[in-house]
Amino acid sequence: MDYERQPYRRCGRSGLLLPAVSLGLWHNFGEGKPLDGQRAILHKAFDLGITHFDLADRYGPPIGAAEAAFGRLLPRSLRDEVVVTTKGYNPMWDGPYGVGGSRKHLLATLDRSLQRLGLDYVDIFYLHRDDEETPLEEQVATLDHMVRTGRALYVGVSNFSPERTAQAARLLRSLGTPLLVHQPSYSLLNRHIEDSLLGVLEEEGVGCVVYSPLAQGLLTDRYLNGIPADSRAAEGRFLTADRVTPEVLAFVRALSELASSRGQTVAQLALAWALRDPRITSVLVGASSPEQLEANVAAVDRLDFTEDELATIERAAKE
Ligand code: NDP
Repeated sequence: MDYERQPYRRCGRSGLLLPAVSLGLWHNFGEGKPLDGQRAILHKAFDLGITHFDLADRYGPPIGAAEAAFGRLLPRSLRDEVVVTTKGYNPMWDGPYGVGGSRKHLLATLDRSLQRLGLDYVDIFYLHRDDEETPLEEQVATLDHMVRTGRALYVGVSNFSPERTAQAARLLRSLGTPLLVHQPSYSLLNRHIEDSLLGVLEEEGVGCVVYSPLAQGLLTDRYLNGIPADSRAAEGRFLTADRVTPEVLAFVRALSELASSRGQTVAQLALAWALRDPRITSVLVGASSPEQLEANVAAVDRLDFTEDELATIERAAKE
C-alpha cells in the first residue's frame, strides 16, 4: 500500500479519511471475468493507496459474486488498512423479505454479505435507495442497530433526495449514530447534486462519495472512435450504445483539448473536476484493467483549476 500516492480526505465531520480516488466493484468482479484479472486490479489498487472498496449485496453477476470475489482476494493482513462497504435494498431473494428497507430484509442481507465477504463487520453499510414505503424511522433504526451489534462501523445512504437525507441525518443523530456519508451519482454529464444535496451534506457534516464520475466510461477517450467490443456500452447491460451520442462525443472532444493543455487525459480531467469541490470526499471509479485504474489515480497529480479552465468547461457543457 503506497500511502504517498494520493491524498486522503476527511469524510464530512467524521474521523474517517478516504482516498481521493476509490474503487467500486459493481462491474468487472463477476461471472466471466477471470479471477487473475480481478486480482490484478485489486493489487494495483493497493499499490495506488486505494484503501476504500465499494460493494453491494447485488454486485455480480450473479448476485453476490463481487462480494465473494473480494472476500477471496483480500489478504487478511490488510483488513485494518482498508474500508469495505456494502449496501442493501435491492431484490436479493424471493418473497416479501428479499427486498426493501425493512429491518427484516436489511439485517438478513447484511448478514449474507458478511458471510460472502468472510468478514465480521463492514466499515460502512449503506441504504442503497430510499424505500419510501418503509418509515424512515425503521430504516435508520436498523442502521443504528447494525452499528450497535458490531456488523458495521459507520452508516450511509445512497440515492436519497436532499430532504430525506436531512431527515435521516437528524434521526440518526438523535439515536447517537451519525450519518457518515451520502453516495450519489455525479459527473460532468450529471450535476444534480449541485442544486441542493451538497449544501445539505455540508450543513449536516456528512461526507459525499460520488459514483460513476466518468459517466460509466463516456467521459473518457473509450468511445471517440466507435464502440470497442470489450466496452461497457458494447455489453449494453447498464450503459447502452444509444447513450454514445454525437453531443456527448463533441463534449468529450472539447474536454480533451483542455485536458491535453493541462497534461491530462479527458478521464483525469473529469475526475479532477469532480474533486475540485472540497465537499466531495472521494470519487468512486470502476476499472476493467489495472492500467485504467492507474491512469485514473494519476488525476490527483493535477487537481487545481484556473478560473479560465472552469469557464471553458462551462462553455463546453452548454454547447
Ligand atoms: P465510472 O464512471 O468510473 O465508470 C467505470 C468504467 O469506465 C470502467 O468500467 C471502464 O469501462 C471505463 N473506464 C474507467 N477508467 C477508464 C479510463 N481511464 N479510460 C477509459 N475508460 C475507462 O464508474 P462506475 O459506473 O463503474 O461506478 C463506480 C462505482 O460506483 C461502482 O463500482 C459502484 O461501486 C458505485 N456505484 C454505486 C451506485 C449506487 O447506486 N450507489 C450505482 C452505480 C455505481 P469499460 O468496462 O468499458 O472499460
